[in-house]
Amino acid sequence: MRSHLLNDTTTEHYRRSVTEGVERVAAKLATTDRPFTGVTVDDLAPRIDAIDLDQPLGDTTAVLDELEDVYLRDAVYFHHPRYLAHLNCPVVIPAVLGEAVLSAVNSSLDTWDQSAGGTLIERKLIGWTAARIGLGPAADGVFTSGGTQSNLQALLLAREETKADQLTKLRVFASEVSHFSVQKSAKLLGLGPDAVVVVPVDHDKRMQTVALARELERCTEAGLIPMAVVATAGTTDFGSIDPLPEIADLCEQYGAWMHVDAAYGCGLLASRKYRHRIDGIERADSVTVDYHKSFFQPVSSSAVLVRDAATLRHATYHAEYLNPRRMVTERIPNQVDKSLQTTRRFDALKLWMTLRVMGADGIGELFDEVCDLAAEGWKLLAADPRFDVVVEPSLSTLVFRYIPAAVTDPAEIDQANLYARKALFASGDAVVAGTKVSGRHYLKFTLLNPETTTADITAVLDLIAGHAEQYLGESLDRAC
Ligand SMILES: *Cc1c(COP(=O)(O)O)cnc(C)c1O
Repeated sequence: MRSHLLNDTTTEHYRRSVTEGVERVAAKLATTDRPFTGVTVDDLAPRIDAIDLDQPLGDTTAVLDELEDVYLRDAVYFHHPRYLAHLNCPVVIPAVLGEAVLSAVNSSLDTWDQSAGGTLIERKLIGWTAARIGLGPAADGVFTSGGTQSNLQALLLAREETKADQLTKLRVFASEVSHFSVQKSAKLLGLGPDAVVVVPVDHDKRMQTVALARELERCTEAGLIPMAVVATAGTTDFGSIDPLPEIADLCEQYGAWMHVDAAYGCGLLASRKYRHRIDGIERADSVTVDYHKSFFQPVSSSAVLVRDAATLRHATYHAEYLNPRRMVTERIPNQVDKSLQTTRRFDALKLWMTLRVMGADGIGELFDEVCDLAAEGWKLLAADPRFDVVVEPSLSTLVFRYIPAAVTDPAEIDQANLYARKALFASGDAVVAGTKVSGRHYLKFTLLNPETTTADITAVLDLIAGHAEQYLGESLDRAC
């Protein structure tokens, strides 16, 4: 069994195994003609159930053959131009190379003595990101597992900075289309059930700052404490960007921590063309960025940035076995002092490899392409009488629904759109997402693949219309 340990004596086995795996994936990518096979849970579950984990196959080739059957054949492939559903990006090759390196070396970024150069590389990327945001000379941050964790950490710091005696007095303001991790964080942070004040959005799904001002005033008058405002720079559903400068002014006025959730919109930090759309982000106290959404990085790759490095002390605990206090005076850089995690992947390496091979402009240009594609898609949808489209895109998301001329019952239209999404998924021809707008079912394209064309968009819209018409035709038959 020792032959499976990666070390000086097994490098040939390592090279062969990994190469064999890479070959399989490459062959798969070269031949997938659809984003999904349409496999069902009932098809797949018995295949996985039948495998006896106590009976190993021993041999890499046999295991890869088995993996083909239980995973690779039927996986959902984000690199395919007709995968248009969630905030998943195709990944860039330098980052995949980084992933292979970081797993093999297996550094853990919690302490210097488990990471060395990795620690400094991560720090440099945090500095780079903070500079792109414009957070100023005292900025810092740390890589996290994702936007959810970044938002949690940011709100933890905000909570600690209020120095409130009663958690139930704290209020967090976020728009009605902010990410649900704001609510989850409030719960985890022990805030009361009414802690999150939901602020309405305007026609373009941006936070109404007049309403925010009113809520902040109401909160203060009631003797409550405005702990934080979460501005979203790229909402999950619409890609809408809250008015950051106005929100920054209000945060200043009411003494609230300004957190910008740029999990999605962070891609604009690398864009020369559209960077201005997130102007005002530099006034934040903390920012969430998900490189695994708009920097074309493999999951996980995310960070939380703060304007004032000192605020990260709220996440600092010392342990004799890991990061004793004396190491601070010895100036040993232990990233665990800034993180909610302990053992932590060297995810930063993926971004490092990407920037060193492609440069920031390379990433920004890819993101610009999908933003431009969304603008084109919006024009197509707006001109197509079969569809109702909401919100002209600020990033790369399109939300729309099929509206047949002959049907007026909105519930029936809801059903037709739900059916179309399911039928499309079952066919595997394309994958799209869905959401609700004003209580009605809508469909969503999240465009993150520069390989997707307007022809793909047109073709998928035709498929959706076809499925919806089929549903309505059948329901007409049922009614007769
Ligand atoms: C995706 C998303 C998150 C959560 O990020 P994860 O990486 O999925 O944990 C938070 N906020 C917004 C706006 C998002 O789109």
